Amino acid sequence: MTVSGKSKYALPVFHENFAKAAAAASGNDVLRAVTTSAALKKDGGRKKILAELPDAEGLRALAKQIKSHVLDNFDYYLAQFADKVRAAGGVVHFAATAAEANQKVVNIARENNCRVIVKVKSMATEETQLNAALSAAGMTPIETDLGEFIVQLAEDRPSHLIMPVMHMNRQQIGKLFAKFFGVPYTDDPPTLAEMARVYLRDRFNVADMGVSGVNFGIAETGSIVICTNEGNGRMCTTRPRVHVALMGMEKLLPRFADLGVFLKLMARSASGIALTQYTNIITGPRRPEEHDGPHQLHIVILDNGRRRILGSEYRDVLRCLRCGACLNACPVYRTIGGHAYGTTLPGPIGSLLAPLLNGIDRHPDLPQASSLCGACLEACPVQIDIPELLIHMRRDLAAGAPPSTPAPPHPTTAWTERVLFGMWTFMLATPWRYRLAQAFQKFFLRHLASSREGWISRLPGPAKGWTQARDFPVPPERTFRQWWKERRP
Ligand code: SF4
Repeated sequence: MTVSGKSKYALPVFHENFAKAAAAASGNDVLRAVTTSAALKKDGGRKKILAELPDAEGLRALAKQIKSHVLDNFDYYLAQFADKVRAAGGVVHFAATAAEANQKVVNIARENNCRVIVKVKSMATEETQLNAALSAAGMTPIETDLGEFIVQLAEDRPSHLIMPVMHMNRQQIGKLFAKFFGVPYTDDPPTLAEMARVYLRDRFNVADMGVSGVNFGIAETGSIVICTNEGNGRMCTTRPRVHVALMGMEKLLPRFADLGVFLKLMARSASGIALTQYTNIITGPRRPEEHDGPHQLHIVILDNGRRRILGSEYRDVLRCLRCGACLNACPVYRTIGGHAYGTTLPGPIGSLLAPLLNGIDRHPDLPQASSLCGACLEACPVQIDIPELLIHMRRDLAAGAPPSTPAPPHPTTAWTERVLFGMWTFMLATPWRYRLAQAFQKFFLRHLASSREGWISRLPGPAKGWTQARDFPVPPERTFRQWWKERRP
């Protein structure tokens, strides 16, 4: 696993050839099966549980309004949050880049003589590649979320925002555990989970420092909120003597009362459950009268390109909660999985954020990685209009607007497209030409439809790209016009 040009990218880039990676991933039947099944299950759970709320749409609109209000008054709430954290005994650090954030965490660890560091799952630390920085400084970071722990053992990378090992099946995990723990192979999920639990329990006992992300930072009280389902968040943030939280600066909420809106929406959207199993609300480090909790709480507030986005027409992406609902709803993500996107943020939201943070010239394919079906917008708890923003980005890409340097169109594609669109325009110009084209197309496709009942598995010529990853439906015997003519009184 390599990250190219870490220092110059805001998001780590694992590869830049989306088209090639997507084609390979869509041809991987095992990957497609596990990704599709897990994503559809989560997406179905989200729809079902949101339908049980009396006014889910009203709640989503309110969440959007609160987040937009924070973005409109960003400096005010950021300053208020920092003041309140300090007043509660915490230490606030500001990091302009991923490298700066990592350096600050390493410095805190060094100053406090911390060697073993337990981590809660966090997209911000994935964004900065904190584990690599800690390891390079001679420390031992240990992921304690089961999925992230598996990713770390496999020296792999997450393929989903909240289900990091979505791309692996239990047989693969069983083999990995047998090798790591030196035990006989099993793919029984409770047995595998128990092995990890016993191993991690020991690590919690010896860890000097806990690192977490932040789901919400509340400006009114200086509290940070960390939502987990495995209880490891509570272990990481209470047991070690130092707690460092890495927080993307867009995670702010104005008031404590706003939290309820987001807690109601986030778990439902992410996992199809009413509430995460553990919701930790932390305000400052351990107080003298308290028996547990860290002696120090450091909050590192990460910019890493967010302020640049705040001043652009794409600012709505800063409402993102990293819930992963748009990934589960997206037919493109379900077909190719997360690794094909080439960065730590896959799926529809990643298709926006990677070009915004790293430059469109690095990811010219990602704005096209969507059918614009609108499923991501429908799924998003804070109503980010991802399709609309992707269209804006395609416009920027076509116009060569800063910061993009669009790749020139492939000459063959450009030539083929011109001929095909020319023919299309000619055929649509008069009704009789359209009918003729329709009859020809029907004859042509029905003649090809030999491989499978009702479906064409392989189209010839330039159309073959369509059937590389999906079948094409055979046109029905009668056209709609014929059907309508027969039914009309
Ligand atoms: S864009 Fe919306 S649905 Fe996608 S991860 Fe962010 S909050 Fe969740």
